[in-house]
Amino acid sequence: MQNTVSIKRATQIYTPRLPEIAHFVNGEHIDQTGTETFDVVDPSRGKTIVAMRLGNDSDVDVAARAARDAHPAWAAKTPQARSELLLAIADTLASNSDNLQQLEALNCGKPPNVALDDVESAVDVFRFMAGAGRTGSTIPAGDYVEDTTSLILREPIGVIGLITPWNYPLLMGAWKLSAALMAGNTVVYKPSEVTPLTSLRLAELAADILPPGVLNMVIGTGVEVGQALSKHPEIDMMALTGSVRAGMSVASTIASDLKRGHFELGGKAPVIICEDADLEHAADTVTEAGFWNSGQECGAATRVIVHGSVADEFTQLLAQKVRSYVLADPEVAGEMNLGPMIYQSHYTKVMDMIKDAITRDAEIVLGGNGDDSVGFWIEPTILKVAIGDPITQNEVFGPVVTIETFSDLSEATDRANAVEYGLTGSIFTSNVSTALKVSKALEFGSVNINTHLALPTEMPWSGFKHSGYGRDLSSYALDDFTRTKHIAIHY
Ligand code: NAD
Repeated sequence: MQNTVSIKRATQIYTPRLPEIAHFVNGEHIDQTGTETFDVVDPSRGKTIVAMRLGNDSDVDVAARAARDAHPAWAAKTPQARSELLLAIADTLASNSDNLQQLEALNCGKPPNVALDDVESAVDVFRFMAGAGRTGSTIPAGDYVEDTTSLILREPIGVIGLITPWNYPLLMGAWKLSAALMAGNTVVYKPSEVTPLTSLRLAELAADILPPGVLNMVIGTGVEVGQALSKHPEIDMMALTGSVRAGMSVASTIASDLKRGHFELGGKAPVIICEDADLEHAADTVTEAGFWNSGQECGAATRVIVHGSVADEFTQLLAQKVRSYVLADPEVAGEMNLGPMIYQSHYTKVMDMIKDAITRDAEIVLGGNGDDSVGFWIEPTILKVAIGDPITQNEVFGPVVTIETFSDLSEATDRANAVEYGLTGSIFTSNVSTALKVSKALEFGSVNINTHLALPTEMPWSGFKHSGYGRDLSSYALDDFTRTKHIAIHY
């Protein structure tokens, strides 16, 4: 399956100014004490951008203590004071948008529209949290015991360990940082070792804004730095976005001293398309939401379950639209560009999943080929598959949409739910009653009706089942990064 893939190559490769590749602790860069290195790679060309020295336990220790020392003064600031600093971070991200987009494009292979959306959404979430964190929460103050008034205080939790994945490096960091900081916590943040560049730039940009020690960053692997954070006695809560495997590993480590956990994990989103759906609109939606970020998206519209009577028409419409995608280097302009897979072993995993499905008689509607001779490229792929095929059950995290059919809606709903994940799903129908009944039955933290990946900053994003627990975005995220205290005043 090699070398049949067409890729638009750029004549000029981005050369953005790189951040300093070092931990950021107490307002300054410090050298990694570890000696092991890790290559940060440009996935479009398969070339090393920079070799990064990895952190270890002792680096985490210094960072966690810095965050602890900075916590009382940060927590004591008024929401207005913290809000102004978050707004300043949003402004500096916006004014450094070009550099951030280029770093993200170089390190992740993101096409222009995805890199731009990531930076704009990161700016927006800092602005949102800066406002939402000033509104206060509903306080059920009152007299519940004779001559005694009760108050509820919302307090920051303390020092938070943040761990983020490689698919939206800046954005996932921004989701968690904005809520954790606005709620009055200090943080030690470990970005994915695969994609540390925009997170390191964010730390640099925030250095002149935040007091030292409020935002600390340690670079390194999950098993070393991520686990050291999870075990550290000065860390009060761990918040991780990543795979189910990493979430379970952190959850089991923090269980030993009952730290709080906040987990945004994998997904396998079903898209139920009823016979009365607007098929053109459904196909447009799956074209965008199934292949956004080359399908390296936890909420990707990856698993179509379509009524048998309209399956052929829908499949033809989808194939026609998906055919417009162009595999292209991130420097190439274009609204329908798709980038590469993030690294070699991920490319191999996605290709193996496609090949295995074909061995089990999946029918290729479109694509199916890959090329890892220069970068890690996979064509947008549509497969017609049998009910229950493993590719419909496991997260592919690549540009692959599967299509299976149904005849009975309640059976389709059961099938949609029959995965370990519960992040997001959707239903397309013109019948409002069907839409609501199915939405209630779907076991997913976000359910979309006649849309997919509707992700406004004002609404919570969180999973059920093995997709984790803990809310990002919205004022619910602020709740998750606070604890409640009851104060009873006898008068
Ligand atoms: P990953 O789990 O390999 O890594 C995520 C982060 O966890 C990285 O920083 C990594 O170093 C760290 N890590 C890995 N193993 C660890 C361990 N044992 N202990 C502590 N830290 C550990 O995931 P990835 O490949 O970077 O990202 C892809 C995954 O992230 C997919 O499953 C995707 O669905 C998920 N994701 C979920 C959301 C969401 O909002 N639910 C958003 C984006 C990505």
